[in-house]
Amino acid sequence: MSVMRKVLLAMSTSPFLREQATQRAFVRKSVSAFMPGEKIEDAVQAAATLKPHGITTILTRLGEGVTKLDEAERVTQHYLDVLDQVKAAGLEAQISVKPTQLGLDLDAAQCQRNLDRICEKAGRLGNVPVWIDMENSPYVEPTLALYRASKARYQGVGIAIQAYLYRTAKDVESLIPLGPAIRIVKGAYLEPPEVAYPKKSDVDENFFTLCCRLLKEDAQKAGVLLHIATHDPSLTDRLLKHIDTFKVPPSAYEFAMLYGIQRNQQLRLAQSGRPIRVLISYGDYWFPWYMRRLAERPANITFVLKNLFGG
Ligand SMILES: Cc1cc2nc3c(=O)[nH]c(=O)nc-3n(C[C@H](O)[C@H](O)[C@H](O)COP(=O)(O)OP(=O)(O)OC[C@H]3O[C@@H](n4cnc5c(N)ncnc54)[C@H](O)[C@@H]3O)c2cc1C
Repeated sequence: MSVMRKVLLAMSTSPFLREQATQRAFVRKSVSAFMPGEKIEDAVQAAATLKPHGITTILTRLGEGVTKLDEAERVTQHYLDVLDQVKAAGLEAQISVKPTQLGLDLDAAQCQRNLDRICEKAGRLGNVPVWIDMENSPYVEPTLALYRASKARYQGVGIAIQAYLYRTAKDVESLIPLGPAIRIVKGAYLEPPEVAYPKKSDVDENFFTLCCRLLKEDAQKAGVLLHIATHDPSLTDRLLKHIDTFKVPPSAYEFAMLYGIQRNQQLRLAQSGRPIRVLISYGDYWFPWYMRRLAERPANITFVLKNLFGG
């Protein structure tokens, strides 16, 4: 892992820097490259703009680690309202939630109830799956437990799984019989070498292997829907070749990218008839998330600097 990536990921957890950065106009301007705005209306509008291009969406309100249960309740209520707004706007926009946003740190049972309320309503409105983001490694086990419990009650729930963790191949095997929607991501947090591959090339290879596993016929028969969540053009090309060689039907997978990243690639995939979904983030708690995006591509720091100097 590069030193720059480590530094940026360490900075992402600093409340002091968050406080400072969110007050700086040039940082706010830079964030807008990856986020259409702080309000849900901005995200809905962005989703509507992508729709004519054949790009579907996922909406997520930024925020993690709420410290009071009534905050978790507000977040839950917010997502319940978002489901109505999406329906009213006639969009195909799913939602994605973070367990610590729904109160996982405070009361796991209440977090489960919050998640279940969202899954119940999404199922009733036919807007599924509800995606569960994966946070840093201490949350993997409780997040899998939340997922399994919700999946037993509501079919329409999906989970993000991180290719950088050694444990992930085993987790994937144990999930396949459930016929899950699985989003394979590389992993966005600073993890120790005891739990995660330190070398990027190993993470990339594991990402490819996991995706191929989830595209196999037995996984498809079990009902797996794979989200290939990466902006990495070489992995995307390798997986497209694999999909074509093994004649994997488009119902078995979707590519997934973040708003504002690799826009041309998003459009190319849509134009060539590949299912592609863009995750749109919104909300005012964007600092840790933004720092994780910079860590993925330190070259994006030039955006910040350009804005700082009026570019
Ligand atoms: C839809 C979606 C959902 C996600 N959900 C989660 C989650 O729940 N939990 C989690 O831990 N992580 C999540 N992530 C983040 C993920 O783990 C990675 O940190 C992130 O996607 C970067 O990895 P990558 O494979 O896209 O590209 P990298 O391996 O970082 O980079 C490979 C190449 O991709 C391109 N690229 C990557 N980032 C950028 C950028 N910012 N701007 C321009 N080009 C870029 C460049 O060509 C780069 O060389 C999610 C990502 C996506 C797309």
